Amino acid sequence: MGAPFTSVLIANRGEIAVRVERACLELGLRPVLIASEADRAGRATPGEGGPLAIGPSAPGRSYLNQAAILLAARVTGAEAVHPGYGFLSENADFAEAVEAAGLTFVGPPAAAIRIMGDKIAAKRAMMAAGVPCVPGPGEPLPEDAAAVRAIAEEIGYPVIVKAAGGGRGMRVVRESAEVADAIAITREEARRAFGRPELYMEKFLEHPRHVEFQVLCDNHGNAVWVGHRDCSVQRRHQKVVEEAPAPGIAPALAERIGARCAEACRQIGYRGVGTFEFLYENGEFYFIEMNTRLQVEHPVTEMTAGVDLVHEQLRAAQGAVLETARFAGEARGHAFECRINAEDPTTFVAAPGRIAAVHFPSGPGIRVDTHVSAGYRVSPYYDSLIAKLIVHAPTRADAIRRMQVALSATRIDGIATNLALHERIFADPDFVRGGVDIHHLEKRLREEP
Ligand code: ADP
Repeated sequence: MGAPFTSVLIANRGEIAVRVERACLELGLRPVLIASEADRAGRATPGEGGPLAIGPSAPGRSYLNQAAILLAARVTGAEAVHPGYGFLSENADFAEAVEAAGLTFVGPPAAAIRIMGDKIAAKRAMMAAGVPCVPGPGEPLPEDAAAVRAIAEEIGYPVIVKAAGGGRGMRVVRESAEVADAIAITREEARRAFGRPELYMEKFLEHPRHVEFQVLCDNHGNAVWVGHRDCSVQRRHQKVVEEAPAPGIAPALAERIGARCAEACRQIGYRGVGTFEFLYENGEFYFIEMNTRLQVEHPVTEMTAGVDLVHEQLRAAQGAVLETARFAGEARGHAFECRINAEDPTTFVAAPGRIAAVHFPSGPGIRVDTHVSAGYRVSPYYDSLIAKLIVHAPTRADAIRRMQVALSATRIDGIATNLALHERIFADPDFVRGGVDIHHLEKRLREEP
């Protein structure tokens, strides 16, 4: 039910480990940091002390090693585990193992993680709570090809075939002649990726935006939504720039969708922070998935909703009662986040190496979440995110200008980064106008690489 604790093991690395560490210190909690060999060696000032060695560089032997993490919690006397994002953050078995060890998992109950990890179960739960979903049955596809074709006809082409296990198996089908092959290939991919062949089918939306709703829940049945974000600027399904609020969404519609998300949380017994991801097209929202963890892009909501989501997450895990009234009211101003990655600016291939010198901007409305400094070695073992540059300003136009200036004041020497890509995005008239769809960035890159 959530229990008081005074120390938190942070089962993660990089900028999010730093973010959670600071939140713990602000709340008077003792943070316990862990690090793999690569991360210990990569520190700008290696040597004695620093985070607890958790294992070799390969994630499977360190940040994904459940036994090692539980042991680290035991030897350091940590009473709670914060999983950050990625790694074990959406692993229901891990959440269960943490609780079975007598520790508090800073996240939702394992049962809620499990439902949302199964896309078909998730879609069913959302339909039951009145959250609008992409048209299509919330049921596994039958084996029989003729029956599958009938479902596709009922939905109307184009349709998308997706794996219940997640986004790795996914295929667009535009006509009935393609159905049988598409199903066979996607089923095989799903079997290999997730060990389970269940597929489902829904309408393929051609030009959607990605708009998501942040929720916050306690252990006592209280749930609120705290704003929405637009994450349509993507490359290969990876978000590059995010903003809050999502531009051009009618407040009454947002209120209706947000209220449904909060209701879904109450129905599934959710706790802590979570995100409902939607595709948004022609003024309608279509649920695609729920992320049962803190997200990379959470800062844009923090800036515009005036909330510290990590504080709230820790408080919820301690069993505190959420004062939902605090979250009433519209977003204040506008915020953007640029994900700064160590990657080749033209090929987008990860570009690890030693940062020779670094300078981040500062000043009103500027926030940088990072773990790097001069001398830091970016490891090839993990994702290439080295910093998040976040700006907040009274209007969207002010925030764009602020980001342009902030980007031009950012210097990272010694490794390749995607700073130039961000400068291009913030100079793109369509992006500046607002509301581009999820294909926009890739289309631009094809036109003028
Ligand atoms: P994942 O587990 O990989 O996040 P999602 O269900 O969220 O899987 O889908 C990943 C991406 O695939 C979405 O962000 C969107 O770009 C695309 N997608 C998923 N469903 C649809 C759909 N019905 N129509 C159009 N695009 C879709």
